[in-house]
Amino acid sequence: MARFIFLGAPGAGKGTQAKILTDLLRIPHISTGDILRASVAEKTALGLKAQAYMDRGDLVPDQLVIDLIRERLEQPDAQLGWILDGFPRNVAQAEFLDNLLSDIEQPYSYTVNFEVPDEVLVARLLGRGRKDDTESVIRHRLKVYREQTAPLIDFYRSQQKFVSINGDVLPEDVTVELKKLV
Ligand code: AMP
Repeated sequence: MARFIFLGAPGAGKGTQAKILTDLLRIPHISTGDILRASVAEKTALGLKAQAYMDRGDLVPDQLVIDLIRERLEQPDAQLGWILDGFPRNVAQAEFLDNLLSDIEQPYSYTVNFEVPDEVLVARLLGRGRKDDTESVIRHRLKVYREQTAPLIDFYRSQQKFVSINGDVLPEDVTVELKKLV
């Protein structure tokens, strides 16, 4: 049973690799960013609450993503494994996830940290052209990542089942490293 938590800055390649592994392993790719963007597009209550934070490059309030993840991990397809991409994003979310996974008896297999230098991240994100990919919002997202999300590296390293991989290589080479964990 493969259950992966993908960590890394915006643009580190988590989504790209999650899409490849999800096809290979037939387990869902759970991206809080994708779910939130769909909610914004559909103008749901969740989307309306999240939009301003996302446009600025800030994290949305924890409760919104916590509720979303709890519901998503209860779905039938998630009983076969999963890849979490973009969650958790801070220590409070990581602590919630620890408790949730122990409650639902779904221990994770590995936390995978994607390492990519900042200047490569900015270049990749500028090339992607998403609505929140303007240079000033990108720089703000990286600042939020360093301040709130990067501390999770130590949080997970101390729990073992932690792997750091070089994300500044060809996507297919990253996939080779990930397949070794399956
Ligand atoms: P992403 O696609 O993962 O880069 O997420 C896009 C945006 O969605 C982020 O900049 C945040 O505003 C929001 N978001 C996604 N995941 C989370 C999360 N776990 N906690 C808070 N905000 C999130």
